[in-house]
Amino acid sequence: MMRANDERKGLRMLDIGCHLSISKGYLAIAKEAASLGASTFQFFTRNPRGGKARAIDPADVEAFRVFAAERGIKRILAHAPYTLNPASATEKTREFADMVLAEDLARMENTPGQLYNMHPGSHVGQGADVGVELVATALNRALRPEQSTVLLLETMAGKGTELGRSFEELAAVIARVELSDKVGVCLDTCHVWDAGYDIAGDLDGVLREFDRVVGLDRLRAIHLNDSLNPRGARKDRHARVGEGCIGFEALSGVTRHPLLCDLPFYLETPQEDPSGYADEIARLRAAW
Ligand code: FE
Ligand code: FE
Ligand code: ZN
Repeated sequence: MMRANDERKGLRMLDIGCHLSISKGYLAIAKEAASLGASTFQFFTRNPRGGKARAIDPADVEAFRVFAAERGIKRILAHAPYTLNPASATEKTREFADMVLAEDLARMENTPGQLYNMHPGSHVGQGADVGVELVATALNRALRPEQSTVLLLETMAGKGTELGRSFEELAAVIARVELSDKVGVCLDTCHVWDAGYDIAGDLDGVLREFDRVVGLDRLRAIHLNDSLNPRGARKDRHARVGEGCIGFEALSGVTRHPLLCDLPFYLETPQEDPSGYADEIARLRAAW
C-alpha cells in the first residue's frame, strides 16, 4: 500500500534497527533483524561487561554479506563493552581499553566500512579536561590510517563523571585526534535529553548547536530511545518510544527531520524479548 509521502520519498526507506545478540553469528543476527522489520542492527562486540570476543567464522561473514546485500542491509553498528574506560585513573583499566579498541577495530575489518560506537568514558574525578586528553590519547593509539571503520563517540547522559554529556566535550576529544576523519558521533536521544538538550521542544535549535560545536557531518548514527526521566535528569534510563518523557511525536520527528532522516536509527529500548522491537519499528515506519 502506497502512503501519501511514499512518492515524495521515492524508494527511500527509514533505516532502522535495534540492539540484538550476535551470539549465534552475523547471518543469524541479520536474519533476526529482518524478521523484526529492521534494515540494520546493533550488537556488542563482546560481553558488555568485557571479556573475550568470540572467534569470527569467515563462512558466516560471507553468508552475512550475501544476505545483507539481498535485504538492503547497508550499515551495521558494533557497540564497545560498557567496561571500556580509556579515561580511567587506573593504568590497568586504560590498558584494557587499549587492548579492546585495538582488537575490536581489527575485527571490524571483517565487515568493512561499518560503524563502531563507544562511550567516551568516565573521568572518575580527574576532571573533564584530563578525561578528554586520556580518551584522545587512547584513540590516537587505536586508530589506523588503513581502517575502513568509522569510530563513533556516543553522546552521554552525564551520569556520575561520564564524559560526552555536552557537545563541547565530544568536540574537544575529536579536535585532539590525529586521524579525525575516522571519528564520528552517535547521538543517543535519551542521553542528550537527560543531559539537558531539548530535542522535544527545539530539535532545530539542538541540531544548530550540534552543527556549530561538532559539525553535522560528524553525525553518523542515532540511538532512538525514550527517557524515563525529565530533561536534564542525568539518569540514563531508557524507555520504549512513546512510553517516556520525550514522547512518540518528538522521537518520530527525529526520524523525519531533513538533516537526520538518512541516518541509521537504532532502538535500545527495554523489551521482554526482541519481538517487542517489531511493533516499535512498525509504528516508526508508519509515521515516517
Ligand atoms: Fe551506548
Ligand atoms: Fe545509546
Ligand atoms: Zn543509555
